[in-house]
Amino acid sequence: MSKKVIILGVTGSIGMNAVDVITSNPESFEVVAVAALRNKVQCEAVANVLGAKAYVGEDAAIRAVSENEADICLVSTVGLSGLAPTLLAIEKGMDIALATKEVMVMAGELVTTAAAKKGVKFLPVDSEHSAIFQCLPHTSSQFPLPTPASASPSATRFARGIPSLFPIPSSPIKKLILTASGGPFLDKPDDLSTVTVAQALNHPRWKMGPKVTIDSSTMMNKGFEMIEARWLFNVPIDKIDIVVHPESIVHSLVTFVDGATLAQLSPPDMRVAIQYALTHPNRIKAEREELDLARLGSLTFRAPDPKRFPCLNLVREACNLGGCAPAILASADEWAVEQFLKGSIGYMDIAKSLERCLSKAPKMKCDSLEAVLEADKWARAELSKN
Ligand code: MG
Repeated sequence: MSKKVIILGVTGSIGMNAVDVITSNPESFEVVAVAALRNKVQCEAVANVLGAKAYVGEDAAIRAVSENEADICLVSTVGLSGLAPTLLAIEKGMDIALATKEVMVMAGELVTTAAAKKGVKFLPVDSEHSAIFQCLPHTSSQFPLPTPASASPSATRFARGIPSLFPIPSSPIKKLILTASGGPFLDKPDDLSTVTVAQALNHPRWKMGPKVTIDSSTMMNKGFEMIEARWLFNVPIDKIDIVVHPESIVHSLVTFVDGATLAQLSPPDMRVAIQYALTHPNRIKAEREELDLARLGSLTFRAPDPKRFPCLNLVREACNLGGCAPAILASADEWAVEQFLKGSIGYMDIAKSLERCLSKAPKMKCDSLEAVLEADKWARAELSKN
């Protein structure tokens, strides 16, 4: 039986890789709608190939979700614009294949609570979270999820993982270990303040959009992934570690309370994670490069340098502050990266802007769409002052 799919942000790199996965397995999927912010011609061409409806423009994602029914909605829009359509898709009972990490970063509590209430699943598309998801002992991305009082018994059971192969008395996770390529500036240049836009956009491993490429170079992207993991797997931030692994073969690991550590490995290809999010709980055949450990010979790992990558500590700080602090950090980062790409601020000013904004962040709850938007507005206004 084929799965009905909606793709939001279809013209981006995740969206186009998802289209590749889907057109390689036409019998497994039926794409009902695709949406893009711009790139009307490309969006319509893709829709044509897939036999889907095309939506383009500011409200494209919302319209695609509200006017169509699907089993799963792939959210791969840029930034906060993914939040409202994600909430709507949850409300309509669709599972969410989540690529837009800002949604979890800025509104993790809001969306996980909404999903638990509706009994829908979050299926990670990010390679690291997909790896963790695949290492978990059953097929849920959310365990053990805090149960909202209003959740129905079936929704609760679902949120705790169906099918659950065996009962899990309490979380068996001791630690999540996210791997990081380290980006282009792992060791050089010595003085990061000299970094140009062109250098920062040149990621050694993955080809992605400009915002996420800059975030990878500052390791803010990894910081966001820590917050995303915190919500997806309901693990406190102090149990989430980062290890630099430049080869990008081990995509992440889970250490369990009994001392066992499981990892997921594959040659770097984002289609592996995208496909698993779309086919879960099944695996289907794909033409991919096979892992050849003997040819690789060795894999290397090391701790990230906190001086070169101050964003990682800012993320821990924001999580410990709680409330809207992570949302404020994410908005501040969007603003700062935009300014850097425009040439208005230097490379090291990105982290400095975040630190400044976080130090002034007001205590705000983050339990509604309005609160998240308010936090976003506050951060931008605060940074624009200077
Ligand atoms: Mg990632």
